[in-house]
Amino acid sequence: MFTIFPGMVDGFASLSLLGKARERGLLDVRVHDLRSVATDPHRSVDDTPYGGGAGMVLMPEPIFAAVEAAAPPRPLLLLGPGGRTLTQAVARDLAVLDGFSLLCGRYEGVDERVRTHLVDGELSIGDYVLAGGEVAAMVVLEAVGRLVPGVMGNDASAGDESFSDGLLEYPQYTKPADFRGLTVPEILRSGDHGRIARWRRAQALRRTLARRADLVASRGGLSDEEQRLLEEFPAPG
Ligand code: SAH
Repeated sequence: MFTIFPGMVDGFASLSLLGKARERGLLDVRVHDLRSVATDPHRSVDDTPYGGGAGMVLMPEPIFAAVEAAAPPRPLLLLGPGGRTLTQAVARDLAVLDGFSLLCGRYEGVDERVRTHLVDGELSIGDYVLAGGEVAAMVVLEAVGRLVPGVMGNDASAGDESFSDGLLEYPQYTKPADFRGLTVPEILRSGDHGRIARWRRAQALRRTLARRADLVASRGGLSDEEQRLLEEFPAPG
């Protein structure tokens, strides 16, 4: 990862899930400071835009020099609002690679020649504008990192959750069974694992239909079997 704020990303990647995965050698995260290769006394990395306008633009020289010195794993992806949007499917594609690299912009962005002649693609985390690519890089790192085999304590949990099969996740409950009169659905305590699995699938379908009908539409609507599941477990009330 290339950034002018290495401390931001390094701190984040040293804690919790990612930190443990790095300690165990499951993930190798390297953070390169774009300023370290700047040659002038002020270590400047940005300058005013040609043609005028507000703000500063990251210069090509320090970025090319930092990338060439590090020879990082490719693809090298520039973080930016104009990129391909990060989805669970994109995260899965990145997780199976041997490695990849991220370049964080700042200020008004990066010189266009970085985009056209240095990076291999561009990645966005959504349709809004951040002040820099660092938070976006952390989002990518966490979404991808937890898909790397062994990083999550229980590998099955990544297969069951939201988006893994184009649906949102079913509702989850833990103890106590009765919390202030709010009870856990009886079926989850029944021990009938086949029925529990069908109930969960029906809940995931119902929830996705209610909140993200677009996700159901994009996987081609409901199959006959899914229709039957919804009939087997009608909506309460
Ligand atoms: N002027 C640019 C925005 C620059 S924001 C424009 O209009 O497109 C500064 C930096 O923040 C960008 O270079 C990029 O690295 C990062 N950034 C901003 N929004 C982002 C997003 N949605 N996803 C990923 N990175 C983003």
